[in-house]
Amino acid sequence: MSFTAVDRIPGIVAGLRYSFAHGVTWPEQWRREQLTRLRDVLIERGSDFERALFADLGKSGTEAQLTEIGFLVSEIDHALQNLARWMRPRRVGLPLALQPAAGRIIPEPLGVALVIAPWNYPLMLALSPVIGAIAAGNAVVIKPSELAPETAGLIARIIPDALDTRAVAVIEGGVEETTALLSERFDHIFYTGNGKVGRIVAHAAADTLTPVTLELGGKSPAYVDESVPLTEVAKRLAWGKFMNAGQTCVAPDYVLGTAAVLGRLAPLLADAVHELYGSAPRDNPDFGRVVNRAQFDRLVGYLSDGAAVVGGGYDADSLHMDPTVLTGVPRDSRVMQEEIFGPILPLIDVADLDDALDWVNAGEKPLAAYVFSDDSAVRRRWERETSSGALGFGVPVMHLTAPELPFGGVGESGMGAYHGELSFRVFSHDKAVLSKPLRPDTLAATVMPPFTAAKDGL
Ligand code: NAD
Repeated sequence: MSFTAVDRIPGIVAGLRYSFAHGVTWPEQWRREQLTRLRDVLIERGSDFERALFADLGKSGTEAQLTEIGFLVSEIDHALQNLARWMRPRRVGLPLALQPAAGRIIPEPLGVALVIAPWNYPLMLALSPVIGAIAAGNAVVIKPSELAPETAGLIARIIPDALDTRAVAVIEGGVEETTALLSERFDHIFYTGNGKVGRIVAHAAADTLTPVTLELGGKSPAYVDESVPLTEVAKRLAWGKFMNAGQTCVAPDYVLGTAAVLGRLAPLLADAVHELYGSAPRDNPDFGRVVNRAQFDRLVGYLSDGAAVVGGGYDADSLHMDPTVLTGVPRDSRVMQEEIFGPILPLIDVADLDDALDWVNAGEKPLAAYVFSDDSAVRRRWERETSSGALGFGVPVMHLTAPELPFGGVGESGMGAYHGELSFRVFSHDKAVLSKPLRPDTLAATVMPPFTAAKDGL
């Protein structure tokens, strides 16, 4: 990966703006061609992407296909199937007083979009917003994460070959290059990553009144009660937590339950880990690694906050940490202060449902909350009494694979949402269009002066 020279950035953005202004990106045909080429290159170069994702995160080929490459291909297929409908102007009804007239909403592209991506799903999160930006007819700058350098480098080599370089550019780099990008004017900034940088992005966007989508993180809780089959719950929790070595924004961060429930759940989680990853997960190619030494050291620091019922081991040289479930974790311990974002799952005792709801509501609004309960009254209380980007009953993570469900956070977990049609809407402006014939009508009689007494009585 070689970083883009900072002094080239203004020219690159100006070039994209020129293309947008000259209508390169507007035709449906152009959008379809770009999306189709992106789809083709994801499939043709699939094994190269798998290799890059393995190099950056130890991600297995199957996981790379399921959570990154295949996910993008499905999103593109969905966009291609629905593009004509999304682009179509929508007729709206008008109040009687406005008649005769016609009202329409025309979705128009915003202009030049900037997509800033993180390292944890470095391919999917760099390109998924781009699908929406292109579908909506925008030019776009992609800034992959420098912390996943193999994937970022591959994106930078492959995308300009596959897509129209007049309207799509990849900028490689870190803080300096992103800072330079943020000093340019964009028409939408789509940022995925942590809230600290999210604030930097929002500040920069404020200067140019640029709309932003912030896809952030947080501590997503899982709540389990005694009404559900715990063996299946354990398996689903272990799957959602330990995929990508726990480095998933919507992974269950920790589990809440009464001591009795957690006492039964803990050994089942250990069984689930062994079932998914065998007895030596660190050596299992299906289990990924921590992205870098800084993250690894932070995670090792959490291990002493509880007792490991499974895992607890690690290998600093290879950055592998075993899938770890911790019990006896005090609520004020470090592991409960910030998003874990690694393969450590603390189990937190609560007295009852009220205690769990109070705990979640005392913290920042999470990106997701997961509830495992067969009791509809319990599920309703989570719906009504908590706020989170998403709420999953009976399964973690999977909501993000449904194109009809908005994907995004609330409060500290972000603002704005995408996937499916929403990805198109994020990068579109809904222009209100009112057409009225010029022959005189009651409009003139009622709203224009002189306001006679007779009119007042209307
Ligand atoms: P990261 O360190 O790769 O940073 C994200 C992007 O911000 C990178 O492209 C990086 O170059 C840029 N950046 C970093 N510092 C910057 C600065 N000072 N100024 C300008 N740009 C800067 O990734 P990360 O933030 O560590 O990602 C992990 C976080 O992202 C977690 O909190 C996770 O929950 C969240 N996340 C959210 C989602 C979602 O969809 N909501 C998805 C994945 C990750």
